[in-house]
Amino acid sequence: QRIGIPKETFTGEKRVAISPDVVEKLIKLGFAVQVETGAGEGASFYDDALAAAGAKIVSAAELYASSDIVFKVREPDLNDVAKLKDGTTLISFVWPAQNPELMKALAAKKLTVLAMDCVPRLLSRAQKMDALTSMAGIGGYRAVIEAANAFGRYFNGQITAAGKIPPAKVFIAGAGVAGLAAIGTSVGLGAVVRANDTRAEVADQVKSMGAEFIKVDYEEEGSGGGGYAKVMSEGFQKAQREMYAKQAKDVDIIITTALIPGKPAPRLITAEMVASMKPGSVIVDMAAERGGNCELTEPDKAVVKNGVTIIGYTDLASRLAKQSSTLYATNLLRLTEELCKAKDGQIVVNMEDDAIRGFTVIKDGEITWPPPPLKLP
Ligand code: NAD
Repeated sequence: QRIGIPKETFTGEKRVAISPDVVEKLIKLGFAVQVETGAGEGASFYDDALAAAGAKIVSAAELYASSDIVFKVREPDLNDVAKLKDGTTLISFVWPAQNPELMKALAAKKLTVLAMDCVPRLLSRAQKMDALTSMAGIGGYRAVIEAANAFGRYFNGQITAAGKIPPAKVFIAGAGVAGLAAIGTSVGLGAVVRANDTRAEVADQVKSMGAEFIKVDYEEEGSGGGGYAKVMSEGFQKAQREMYAKQAKDVDIIITTALIPGKPAPRLITAEMVASMKPGSVIVDMAAERGGNCELTEPDKAVVKNGVTIIGYTDLASRLAKQSSTLYATNLLRLTEELCKAKDGQIVVNMEDDAIRGFTVIKDGEITWPPPPLKLP
């Protein structure tokens, strides 16, 4: 079968769903690989490198007309869908819950659609395909780099001839995959790092990364099942706001990553807290796309309020396009290996396999999302 990788059409998206290394490995699995001209440029994967790895470089029209399988990063828009030929297998981020119209359009084309955002993360054998984790890790790293770029001081403490410089203080709200990556990066740059999460189980992970876990003074467990957070009680939220207000006054940088599945992002940083921060402080709100953890965040923008820079970029992974494309392409390769156990260049979407069942959201034009609940051992 022929795998095609088009150029991403979402404005500003620099990632691509392939790397030269993965081209070679897909060919070894028996597939033919074709890439749209210029598709990898934003990620510094140029046509010559992809061609040297064995990919055919083609026009968009040829790609869509002759690919049996299409790899993408962003969910297709309706223009992209119109270009897909009937019966194609699409492997991409899809977000079926948020995109019912797109799901209908994809089903109408008799496609099979495998959603990278639906890989069952709790199955340990699915971890190698978990692009949410690889992208969140990159996002957490880049959030710290953006903060450091907007911050007017060093992160690490120094003793210089011109005086003693204290380390920057960083507070991370939410210590899931992105938050832990942000902790690791901030600690690596030499900052004093603190973090908070509503799930008690992450406290040890936070400490093991060299940060201090700050507990909310209120007894309530935040785990809502499957390793994800739940919406907390009014009482907890009040106690949490008091703690966050104290931290806001003290720290230089706040990075927020808090999300609750299927709900708007919890509001953790109020306008009043922002006003209490030192001038020159920075907030990076990684939840900007889902409504924001900070009241003053404007999605896709960096704004300055009361001398505090508030960054709401929603394209953090795309800002590190070579790294994110490399990891995403590897996640796609691992997924393709699961679909091609015979290594004969043909994929088989075996709905009896619980990992494959989990991410298959449309099968031959029939919507199969949501999947039945996972049976964990
Ligand atoms: P996420 O992006 O949904 O949320 C980010 C973090 O925000 C979470 O840690 C959450 O607890 C926290 N949060 C939510 N509300 C909050 C609030 N009001 N205040 C403070 N923090 C709040 O989560 P994620 O990063 O995708 O990870 C969720 C879980 O899934 C984690 O436990 C992670 O370890 C787990 N996971 C497991 C696997 C695996 O086992 N294969 C893979 C990936 C993730």
